[in-house]
Amino acid sequence: MLDGLSFNLGSAGGEEAVEETQAAERGPRPEIENVIIVGSGPAGWSAAIYTARADLRPLLITGNDVGGQIALTTEVENFPGFDSIQGPELVERMQRQAERFGAEALIDYVTEIDMAGPPFTVRTAGGLEFKAKSVIAATGASPRRLGVPGEELLTGRGVSYCATCDGFFFRNKDIMVIGGGDSALQEALFLTKFAARVRIVHRRDQLRAGVTLQRRAQANPKIEFVWNTVVTSINGQNKVETVTLRDLVTGETYDTPTDGVFVYIGHLPNNELFLGKLALDEDGHLITDKLMRTSVPGIFAAGEIQDHRFKQAATSAGQGVAAAMEAEKYLADLEDRTYPGDEGTHAEVKLAA
Ligand SMILES: Cc1cc2nc3c(=O)[nH]c(=O)nc-3n(C[C@H](O)[C@H](O)[C@H](O)COP(=O)(O)OP(=O)(O)OC[C@H]3O[C@@H](n4cnc5c(N)ncnc54)[C@H](O)[C@@H]3O)c2cc1C
Repeated sequence: MLDGLSFNLGSAGGEEAVEETQAAERGPRPEIENVIIVGSGPAGWSAAIYTARADLRPLLITGNDVGGQIALTTEVENFPGFDSIQGPELVERMQRQAERFGAEALIDYVTEIDMAGPPFTVRTAGGLEFKAKSVIAATGASPRRLGVPGEELLTGRGVSYCATCDGFFFRNKDIMVIGGGDSALQEALFLTKFAARVRIVHRRDQLRAGVTLQRRAQANPKIEFVWNTVVTSINGQNKVETVTLRDLVTGETYDTPTDGVFVYIGHLPNNELFLGKLALDEDGHLITDKLMRTSVPGIFAAGEIQDHRFKQAATSAGQGVAAAMEAEKYLADLEDRTYPGDEGTHAEVKLAA
């Protein structure tokens, strides 16, 4: 068991000292946590804000992608309350807000949750083991791969899933963005800051992205569209040199030179922890009811791990809030009976996809 809060997310200088002092004041972790939140995206941090304000002293385990997907993007213009904010700043603000109320973060990765509980047992890649009366799964989603030859080999050598992280390396280069949704257009626009040319390759002849983004992309002189086309392979020795494309209308296959391939063709839920343990829908999302309950009482889920429809920072945050409020009620029920208890209000889970 950890003692103190030496595992808070890092911050520089004076702030770090303040955090350490606060950590010392809070003392060691309890033997059995009230709630463990798995994931540090908007859903996880919003759940942390609410459970912390309910005095539950939540422990949030960040996973490898600290800040989640929103930390990978630049301009966020649709999060209520902000005209425009950088993705990393938005999630850092959430973290600070949660920590101010007593949430604590552990930079680690959950490898297993033993669902026989409560208390549930949560194990991490760092070799730690926690007991928790409730868990909020906020593991989100990861980019879907194209699944074509060369993609894996050339990832990090011209193939990327994060324009914010890698755009800088493509100054005055030629780039292809694969996809036709909001993310594809948003990131293509961002990449025009660096690249000489950005071609958006889309399998249809219409975009899925919102009209504002479409208008901006179409007006940008550096952006070109390659319609009705798919990538069949990415080629190069040590870096991307060419991409093989297939025109779905004519059937023609051809190679075209490029320096970078940025892939935005959707996301897959990060569900490894839950396979065979919790009810999933056919696309692998956790099934929850309106109270964010999964098929195991005491395990709640929020954000893109259970949402296959809205997939926004604000909706994920809202679902995190809902999961936190229900976890709080669940814990109150649990405390009313002898712990670890039997059935209560929250024991009956009605599943709805
Ligand atoms: C490029 C891009 C641009 C976007 N732009 C916008 C935008 O402008 N506006 C908007 O509203 N939305 C935008 N989104 C969508 C938004 O980022 C997501 O809807 C939101 O981040 C989902 O939040 P989440 O908390 O559910 O999951 P995620 O953000 O996916 O976070 C999941 C978290 O779970 C953690 N995790 C996973 N597995 C484990 C494990 N085993 N143990 C511990 N932790 C784990 C990860 O490390 C991560 O911290 C964008 C997404 C992308 C990719």
